[in-house]
Amino acid sequence: MENVNKKAVSSYFGALTFDQKAMLKKLPKEVYQALQKTIKTGNKLSEEIAGAVAHGMKEWAMENGATHYTHWFQPMTGATAEKHDAFLSIDRDGTAIERFSGGQLIQGEPDASSFPSGGMRTTFEARGYTAWDPSSPAFLMKGGKGYTLCVPTVFISYHGEALDEKTPLLRSMDAVSKSAIRLLGILGVDNVSRVNTYAGAEQEYFLVDRKFYSMRPDLIMSGRTLLGAMPPKGQQLEDHYFGSIPNRVLEFMQEVEEELYLLGIPAKTRHNEVAPHQFELAPIFERANIAADHNLLVMEVMRRVADRKGFALLMHEKPFAGINGSGKHNNWSIGTAEGMNLLEPGDTPESNIQFLVFLAAVLKGVFKRSAVLRASIASIGNDHRLGANEAPPAVVTVFLGELLEKVLDAIEAGKVDFATEKQVLNLGLAHLPILNKDYTDRNRTSPFAFTGNKFEFRAVGSSQPISVPNMVLNTLMAEAMDELANEIQEKIDGGVEKDAAILEVLRAEITATKPVRYQGDNYSENLQEAAANRSLPNLKNTPQALRSLLEVDTREMFSRYGVLSDQELTSRLNTRLERYVKGIDIEARTLQLMLKTFVIPDVSEYQGELASSYNALVEASSRIGVSDKALKSQGAHLKELAENLSDLLDLTAELDVVIAKLGSVGEEFEAADFCAEVVLPSMDKVRAVADHLELMVDRSKWELPTYSEMLFEH
Ligand code: ADP
Ligand code: MG
Repeated sequence: MENVNKKAVSSYFGALTFDQKAMLKKLPKEVYQALQKTIKTGNKLSEEIAGAVAHGMKEWAMENGATHYTHWFQPMTGATAEKHDAFLSIDRDGTAIERFSGGQLIQGEPDASSFPSGGMRTTFEARGYTAWDPSSPAFLMKGGKGYTLCVPTVFISYHGEALDEKTPLLRSMDAVSKSAIRLLGILGVDNVSRVNTYAGAEQEYFLVDRKFYSMRPDLIMSGRTLLGAMPPKGQQLEDHYFGSIPNRVLEFMQEVEEELYLLGIPAKTRHNEVAPHQFELAPIFERANIAADHNLLVMEVMRRVADRKGFALLMHEKPFAGINGSGKHNNWSIGTAEGMNLLEPGDTPESNIQFLVFLAAVLKGVFKRSAVLRASIASIGNDHRLGANEAPPAVVTVFLGELLEKVLDAIEAGKVDFATEKQVLNLGLAHLPILNKDYTDRNRTSPFAFTGNKFEFRAVGSSQPISVPNMVLNTLMAEAMDELANEIQEKIDGGVEKDAAILEVLRAEITATKPVRYQGDNYSENLQEAAANRSLPNLKNTPQALRSLLEVDTREMFSRYGVLSDQELTSRLNTRLERYVKGIDIEARTLQLMLKTFVIPDVSEYQGELASSYNALVEASSRIGVSDKALKSQGAHLKELAENLSDLLDLTAELDVVIAKLGSVGEEFEAADFCAEVVLPSMDKVRAVADHLELMVDRSKWELPTYSEMLFEH
C-alpha cells in the first residue's frame, strides 16, 4: 500500500471500490445512468449495459493492479466464498488479452454441491449460481502480491431458492419497507419511497501472538482453548478496559483501518476491551445489507493484517475460559431513505406518537418472536457466552431505560387522557436521546437495549455474520408493523377517530408486551425467575434454540413475508444443526488428541522424575536421617500427582467412549442434544483435571503455551 498514512482519510476513502466516482470516470454516461436506475429499482440489467459496465469495471480494476476477479458471496458456512478467475483470455490467433464480459459480471457458477444446502439438494438440483448484487459496490481485495476484483453476489439455486445468507436479508429489507410504508401511511406520513433498516456492528476480538497460537492445536482447530488453567491474574483488576493500546496492537489497528478506508468501510472507533488482549472496532452504521457485507470484510481484513503482523486473530465467542468472551453488538434502527429515523423521538407531538408506534412495533415483534431471535444467534461458540454471567443471557428481554418506562407506564395506566396526552408525550420525550443514552449505558447486561434512537442487540456472537440476526429482526419488525397497522385500521374502520385509534392500540400493545420489558440486572437470578414467571423462552443451548425454527407459526411468518420458504428455512436449520454437531465433534477430537499427545505424556514424564527422586530419597533416608514426616509429605505430593493422572486417564477413556458414541447416536436434533448434554460436559470434566495438573507439573515439561503467556505477554 502506498503511504496513505499521511493523507487525509477522506482523500482515499473508497479508493478500492467501484463507487460513484469510479463509475462516473469509467462508464459512458448512458451506461452509468442505466446502472443507477437498476440499483434503485432492482430490475435486471440488459446484456448490453452489463457488458459495458463489466468493461469499465475491468479497466478500473486493472489500473489498480488486479489480474483476477471473483464473485464474492456468503454461503451458509458462516463465512464468505470466492473462486478466482483471471481476466486473461487467449484470442483465436494466440494473442493474450484481458477480458471480462457482462455475463461474467452478472452471473457465475460456483460448484454449488460443495457448499451446504441443508438438504435442498435432495429435492432440487445441486447446481446454483451467483448473481451480481449491484446494491453493494464491487471492490478490490488485497491479498498475496496484488489485488482481486470482488463482485458481491447472491447465491441461489436454479429454482430460485436462496443458498446464501444475503438473499434472505435483502428480502427481509423489502418486507420491512413494505410494512413500514403502510404503517406510516396510516399515521399520515406519505411520500416515503423506501424504508430501510440500518446496522452498526461493534466487533470484539482477541489478538494473541502467532508463536503461541501455532503451538495450540485447539486454537487452530476450534478457535478456542479447550485446556488451560486460569492465571493468577485474570481480568479482576479491570485494568485493560479503555486502557492505553499497546503499540504493536495500535499498528495492527492502523493498518486494518487503512485497508478498510480504501474499501469504503467507515471504521470509527477502536479501543481495548474488558479482557486482556481483547479489543473492539466499531464502524459508522450503514444500510443493514451493506453493513453485513462490510462486517464480513472487517473480519477478513483483520485476519489478514493479523497474519502479517505476527498475531493470530481470535474471533471465537469464548477463546479463554474464565475470561470475558467476545460479542458483536448489533446496533439496529429503521428509517426512511429520505433520512427520517423512525426510532428517534422528536419534538412535536406527532413525531412522538410516530416514535411510540414504531417502538411498540419493536416490543411486539421481539416479544412475539424472542425465541426466533434467540435462535438467530445460537452457535457453539455463543453458547459459552449466553449462559455465563458476562454477556446477555439466553432470555431475550428489552431494556428501555427509566424515562421511557415511565412514559409507557403512564400511558398504560390511563393516567394520560386523550385530551392532554399529546402534550405529555411532547414534554416527556423531547430530551430522550440524551437522557436515555446515559441510562442504557448503565445497563450493559441487557440483550436488547434501546440506546437513544436505535436498539442494540448485544447477544450476537463475535464470529457470526450479522445477516442472519438482522434478517430475523427485519422480519419480526415487518410482521409487527403489519399487525399494528391492521389493529389501527380496524378501529378506524369501526368509526374511531384516527388519533384515538392509534392511542388505543398503543395502550393495548404496551400492556400486552409488558413481560418482555426488563430493567433489572440480566446477570442475576431474578431474571431467571422473571423469565419463568412471565413465560419468556429461556433457551439454554443451540439445539434448544433451533427447535423454535420447527414451529409452524414461525415458518409461516418467514414465508408470509417472502423471506424464507419452508424449504429454505429447513435447509438453514439442517445446516446449523450439522455445523453444531460437526463443530463439537472436532472440538472433542482435538481435546482427545491434546490429552493423549501433550498432557498425558508431559504429566507422565514429570511423574517419572518425581517417582525416581522419591525412590532415591527413600533409599537414602536411613543413611541421611530423613524424617518420616518429610517422606510422608513428599510421598503425598507424588500420590496426588499420580491420583490426578489416573483420573485424567479414566476421564480421557470416558471421552473416547463418548466420541465413539456420537457417531452413532442418531441424526440432527438427537445428535445435537447429545453434544450439549453429554459431549460438552465430558470435555469439561476432563479439562478440570488437566487444568489442575497444569498447575502441578514442572513448567519446562508442559509443552502447551499457558494462559499467562498468551494473555499477558506482549
Ligand atoms: P456505544 O454503544 O459504544 O455507546 P454508540 O452508541 O455511539 O457507541 O454507537 C455504537 C454503534 O451504533 C456504532 O457502530 C454506530 O455507528 C451505531 N449507530 C449509531 N446510530 C445508529 C442508528 N441510528 N442505527 C444503527 N446503528 C447506529
Ligand atoms: Mg454499544
